[in-house]
Amino acid sequence: MAHTPSILQALFHLLFIYLAAGYSTLSEESLRALPGPGDDFNIKTGKLLSPILQPRVPGTPGSIAVQNHFIDFFKTTLPAWKIELQNSTSKTPATGDRDVPFVNLIISRDPPWYAPGFSSRLTLVAHYDSLSVPEGFLGAVDSAVPCAILMHVARSIDVALTAKWEKMQADGMDSEFEDHQGVQIFFLDGEEAFKTWTDTDSVYGARSLAAEMESSAFAAQSTFHNALSTISLFVLLDLLGAKNPTVPSFFMTTHWAYQKMASVEKRLRSFSLFESSAKAASPKAASSSKKASSKKASSKKASSKKVSPKRKTPKKASKRNDAVFLTEADKTGGRWLGGMIGDDHVPFMERGVEVLHIIPTPFPHVWHKMEDDGAHLDLPTVTDWSRLITGFTAEWMELEGFMNTTQTSSKNGRDLNADGSRPTKDKSELP
Ligand SMILES: [Zn+2]
Repeated sequence: MAHTPSILQALFHLLFIYLAAGYSTLSEESLRALPGPGDDFNIKTGKLLSPILQPRVPGTPGSIAVQNHFIDFFKTTLPAWKIELQNSTSKTPATGDRDVPFVNLIISRDPPWYAPGFSSRLTLVAHYDSLSVPEGFLGAVDSAVPCAILMHVARSIDVALTAKWEKMQADGMDSEFEDHQGVQIFFLDGEEAFKTWTDTDSVYGARSLAAEMESSAFAAQSTFHNALSTISLFVLLDLLGAKNPTVPSFFMTTHWAYQKMASVEKRLRSFSLFESSAKAASPKAASSSKKASSKKASSKKASSKKVSPKRKTPKKASKRNDAVFLTEADKTGGRWLGGMIGDDHVPFMERGVEVLHIIPTPFPHVWHKMEDDGAHLDLPTVTDWSRLITGFTAEWMELEGFMNTTQTSSKNGRDLNADGSRPTKDKSELP
């Protein structure tokens, strides 16, 4: 009988975790208040994005500089976030007997009553390494922009997280049973292949981290048995920042989460908060760009590290009117292409983690070319992704009622024009 209380306790934990794993929609007011990244995504001077736009091959000074950029940002701007490094080494087909170091950053924020093994975490992921060849490759969409977006998301929800958790405590919540969800960001190293994409020449950092998290056992009475199982959803951003992205829903089991994000997109568009929308709505611009992008992606297919599945028929693509990013919100069946694209989610997915993969298909036409640099980004699209991912995260973390107090945008709250210049009009809806 001695074990009965702990079994009951475990059942209660599970019950409350399920009850707490809600998802609360943001009000129109909160959506309108979502900050854009503004000047901080300027490709030359922006304090979030520009320091990432340098070659950052694993084990090189550029890689260390970008790691330090992340660490400095969180230490100085968001000190409540915990920073951990996870190290591994591996030989690669391009480096012979030399062990290449890979450094993943895990940056997390948990409720103040957090206890290891009792909290789940929404997990937001991007890789920060860049391709070693061609030399000097900057990888703006691949994946400097996704990293910068995650920094922006963190600062945009930070104040609201504090306010929510303080209120929960002030209201006399029972920390044993109430919502334990935190949030963590993985900046992963070694996603790119050194030679040709294979199971062993790719996702070096992700493979090491997934294995380590799986082997980290929590105490027997914990709600979760290891760090891997605390991942409530693995949201992987990749290849974001080019114009007119189309992102399918890859996994049936996370289609509901995809639909939630699509709903945020739809509402942001309906409030005219999507800055790329006016241009993308031009049928001429959209169709010519789409055509070019499809052609490039398919011509690369044979040698690509990631397979770009041929799933978009021209007919379907031509039906796209307002160039929606998340194109499959209404999908009810048909093909689920999860697993066809190799990326950082694979080692986690293979261990049973639920994945939401946000990657355009076909890939942007600059993919793995020298043109994947700051100048080829579409900054209104980058801004739109920033707001969309922030809105989704705020809804997942149930921050409605707290987001309006967030004051994390760049000082003037303005976003940039496509050429990186400042707009002449104020966006009065921004804080
Ligand atoms: Zn790549």
